[in-house]
Amino acid sequence: MRRSTGRILAFAMCSLLAACKQSGFSESSKNAVEPADWSLHGGGYEEQQFSPLKQIDAANVRKLGLVWSHEFGTNRGLEATPLEVNGVIYTTVEWSVVYALDARTGKVLWSFDPKVPRSRARTICCDVVNRGVAFYKGKVYLGSLDGRLIALDAKSGWPVWSALTFDQSQSYSITGAPRMVNGMVLIGNAGSEFGVRGYISAYDAETGKLVWRTYTVPGDPAKGFESKALESAAKTWHGKWWVAGGGGTPWDAIVYDPQLDLVYTGTGNGATWYRALRSGGQGDNLYVASILALHAGTGELAWYFQVTPGDNWDYDATQPLVLADLNIDGRSRKVIMQASKNGFFYVLDRESGQFLSATPFVDKITWASGVDGKTGRPIESTTGYAGMEPVLVSPDPGGGHNWNPIAFHPTTGLVYLGTREGTSYLHVPNPQWKSDTSNWNLGNDVRYEGLLLQKLIDAPAGVGKLVAWNPVERREAWHVVLPGVESGGVLVTAGDLVFQGTSDGLLVGYEASDGKKLWEYNAGTGIMAPPATYAIDGIQYVTVMAGWGGVPGIINPPGLGRTKPGWGRILTFAIDGNAKLDVPPFGHSDPPKPAIQMSASHETVHEGGIQFAKYCEHCHGINAVAGALPDLRYASAEVHKQFKEIVLGGARQERGMPSFKDVLNESKVRAIEAFVLSRAEESSHPGQ
Ligand code: CA
Repeated sequence: MRRSTGRILAFAMCSLLAACKQSGFSESSKNAVEPADWSLHGGGYEEQQFSPLKQIDAANVRKLGLVWSHEFGTNRGLEATPLEVNGVIYTTVEWSVVYALDARTGKVLWSFDPKVPRSRARTICCDVVNRGVAFYKGKVYLGSLDGRLIALDAKSGWPVWSALTFDQSQSYSITGAPRMVNGMVLIGNAGSEFGVRGYISAYDAETGKLVWRTYTVPGDPAKGFESKALESAAKTWHGKWWVAGGGGTPWDAIVYDPQLDLVYTGTGNGATWYRALRSGGQGDNLYVASILALHAGTGELAWYFQVTPGDNWDYDATQPLVLADLNIDGRSRKVIMQASKNGFFYVLDRESGQFLSATPFVDKITWASGVDGKTGRPIESTTGYAGMEPVLVSPDPGGGHNWNPIAFHPTTGLVYLGTREGTSYLHVPNPQWKSDTSNWNLGNDVRYEGLLLQKLIDAPAGVGKLVAWNPVERREAWHVVLPGVESGGVLVTAGDLVFQGTSDGLLVGYEASDGKKLWEYNAGTGIMAPPATYAIDGIQYVTVMAGWGGVPGIINPPGLGRTKPGWGRILTFAIDGNAKLDVPPFGHSDPPKPAIQMSASHETVHEGGIQFAKYCEHCHGINAVAGALPDLRYASAEVHKQFKEIVLGGARQERGMPSFKDVLNESKVRAIEAFVLSRAEESSHPGQ
């Protein structure tokens, strides 16, 4: 009954839709998609972030206004793509908490907190974020930070089943959204920065039973290989790579093509970051930094394309994968596209994996001089890798593009994406590196103070852009310079509008053909997630999660441009919406002042700086200048009184600050405290 009502509604929606014909992607009932909904991550199986809705267009977008908003009260990053199914929004916030909200009113229908142990904050690289749920036949699927795949009843939010996807004694995590494939739910994992071995798993959506699991890098040969593909991959590794885990975690993109029955995923960097430490400086290290095509039924490898062979720069190839049909050299090709972290825009034939093109989409790529036009293999530049010597490389580990969803408009033929231009990073392999799979462990030498460090400090700040990219002509069609290096995921609609959030908290609407800015709304905090759009009862809505965090928000690297940390919220817009948004104050307006006096030697402060860089800065900010999370330069006398109990005793574990007693001791904590106070003192003077 519900199904036929859906069909009637879908028919009525034709006045709103540019194209109502069934696409080949909806041919199987298992994989059917309701076009007025936003029921799949990426909007459809192709993950084009494209909506056929066109009620909101260039002529009326100026009248787009807030219909409702909901405050989540979080200072963590919000990265989820909200789903909308039958008038209900399903989304996730920090610590993998799921919300179901009435899409018309914003009323919370239910929420589900998987109660992730706060100690997991230690084993996550880039904030305790989650990029959303999957929906399938009355159930909502969540991958929790601590590795559970949980099926929830979509009506009540009650758990139906839960499957543990990884060994929780290891430093794995899940931040990515599960994807639905033929009645299975697929999930990857993260943790290459900690030394794990990546894999992707498929579970039966009804029962939670594991159907298949495919590792992305070979393990210890003595234990035997799981497949022929891994056996041949092992020939591209050297030394005892398995001790440090190998990496290659598929932490974000998973895309399914129902026509070819192939699943595509992108794999992360190797563990460690440095090939000299990871694999004796030799070999391509398959299948790190690769795009993999797997047979959906078995998980067996159909083809692979390694984007960055022997990756040495944290160039994960996990960025969004977009499926489209493109006319290339007079021939219609089924392609898969990726704006990869390494700065090149890739177009591959997704049936065969054949390389079609790779084109720089950012101005500054120093690690490679280009890509071989026949093989797709990058031509490494002499400045990009120097064994154990430090090198200053662009793009930085944030990449030319990162996880934020990108959009493709089938009519304009353009891909719309946020780019990170001109950023650099100092790669310094640490000769004293030891495998340590419980902690953040890149193999980086944080003590390096050589000449290149000054060069990095003197390097010009990066620039963020919204770029319209023509993947056939391999050139930019237009771009808009953004207020910050980082920017949100992108949505494009048949109303010829591109929507994207900015780091300083605006949601902006542009004309898809030329990038003309048509509309903006101040969401009160930086936006990283992509908007989604859907229609209910003949009204088109746009919904976005606004919340600043992740690497740019919590590590807060300098030179990001205008950013706006704040309290996270979800906002929904429609034509003539007139709801009001009250933005609660966030952060500090005055310069910091040391709350207590502490006498410490220069050496102690210096040692504290090193310990801070090792254990604290990836939440509390580089040089203790925080973004979204507490800025320790402002720590009160009360916090200083408890400093030891907080850092070693775990006194604030429930608030997300785990204990570090396994790696720090009293004298190191005292040094960190001295460093933080010295930073407060330095920052208290004008001009610092
Ligand atoms: Ca990485």
